[in-house]
Amino acid sequence: MQRHKIKTIFSLNMKTHTHNQDEHFMQLALAQAKMAGAQNEIPIGAVLVKDNQVLASAHNSCEADHTPLSHAEIKVIQSITRGQSNWRLNEHSLYVTLEPCLMCLGAILQARVSRLVFGAYDQKKKELVADRSGIVGLNDQQILHDNNHALSVTAGVLEEPCSALLKDFFKKRRQSQDQS
Ligand SMILES: [Zn+2]
Repeated sequence: MQRHKIKTIFSLNMKTHTHNQDEHFMQLALAQAKMAGAQNEIPIGAVLVKDNQVLASAHNSCEADHTPLSHAEIKVIQSITRGQSNWRLNEHSLYVTLEPCLMCLGAILQARVSRLVFGAYDQKKKELVADRSGIVGLNDQQILHDNNHALSVTAGVLEEPCSALLKDFFKKRRQSQDQS
């Protein structure tokens, strides 16, 4: 059984960014996630960064938009590339509070984003990995190669608060469903 359809290799301490920078940008993504939660959306937030500048920030808004496509990652990519002739984001880093789903990972690779940083691991995805082949569970310091493009991955930045926000949201939602 081939677990990874995308060829993977591991990087050897090639980090040019600092841990503090990653935590700083993840805090901004977390602030977006909290805004989503306050609007009864699943609390996931993302920011897109180039040269240490935040170019776009967004949160999940599937309920308000009535579409499963309104994930935070898709929204930050679209807000930068829409109307631009150059849609390639090869000098950009995307920060997101939860490990991207397959749709968003596909969009991140298609947009040629150079670096992905995420907070919490998607526990549901681990179950998928156990059941099916070809689902990519992302690891820290992983590089995904897709044709001529390489995406470096840093996982687990502010994992605890990113994960706690989601767990808390679902717990409260279950409680309110039990009461109704
Ligand atoms: Zn997604």
